[in-house]
Amino acid sequence: MKFSVTIDTQSGFCFGVIRAIEKAEQALHSGVALYSLGEIVHNNLELNRLKNNGLRVISHTQMEALRDAVVLIRAHGEPPQTYATARQNNLQLMDATCPVVLKLQQKIHQSYLQNTNNQILIFGQKGHAEVNGLVGQTDGTAQVIETVDEITDWTRSITLFAQTTKSETAFEQLCADIRSRLPAHLHLEAHNSICKHVAQRVQHLQQFATQHDVIIFVSGALSSNGNVLYKVCKAVNPRTHRVENAHDIQPEWLAACGSVGVCGATSTPQWLLKEVAEALPTNDD
Ligand code: SF4
Repeated sequence: MKFSVTIDTQSGFCFGVIRAIEKAEQALHSGVALYSLGEIVHNNLELNRLKNNGLRVISHTQMEALRDAVVLIRAHGEPPQTYATARQNNLQLMDATCPVVLKLQQKIHQSYLQNTNNQILIFGQKGHAEVNGLVGQTDGTAQVIETVDEITDWTRSITLFAQTTKSETAFEQLCADIRSRLPAHLHLEAHNSICKHVAQRVQHLQQFATQHDVIIFVSGALSSNGNVLYKVCKAVNPRTHRVENAHDIQPEWLAACGSVGVCGATSTPQWLLKEVAEALPTNDD
């Protein structure tokens, strides 16, 4: 097979994920017995690397039973209840909530305190850790939606926020759908809270995916951002294939192809992109 392979230099961890991993590594290197509340990154290979260095991943239920330990809050952030549990259980928190998420949490909390007549809606994935943290800013009253059909209350104005990793195009479409159904005396206050780092990657990946015959998109199955960016690539290049690691590559994908682009999500480490690129059959094979 003869084709060129290009790794997208703009793929790889975003600064929020890098910051969380660096905090964890510093603590582990200094001998701290560190617990991560949930997976620090939605990438099994990177997670296993950190686990091999001593990181222990716990669930919220396990945290309830934990006492006198150090617990890392990952970039997704947490609802206020988690901080209350930590205080009760004498847990020291290493808070790696991404500053972008933290700002959004504060904005939603302010909105909740001020706009008592508006209903707060969050465009996001139900049950996702970041979304749980956002809903927690409203004492659990915000409704999480993916489509306009899920809105049940059309008697109050709407304040709308978005999970940081959602697609901007989908957010704009949702706003248009809401406006078309909202009674004239009510209004929509839309806050585009999508992370700019994700939005920039969308534009960049649209270009990158058109520049290659085949795209290998590397991402963990649980990555919300990975789902969005994979669909972006697939929409402009139907020969886009999603893999978790090099073993998932199917040789038939590479038939009659002159160039392969390897890219990934904000939770995909650069070392893994390199590993996948190196596993592709080369010109000598
Ligand atoms: S995608 Fe944006 S908001 Fe999410 S962790 Fe990365 S930098 Fe922070």
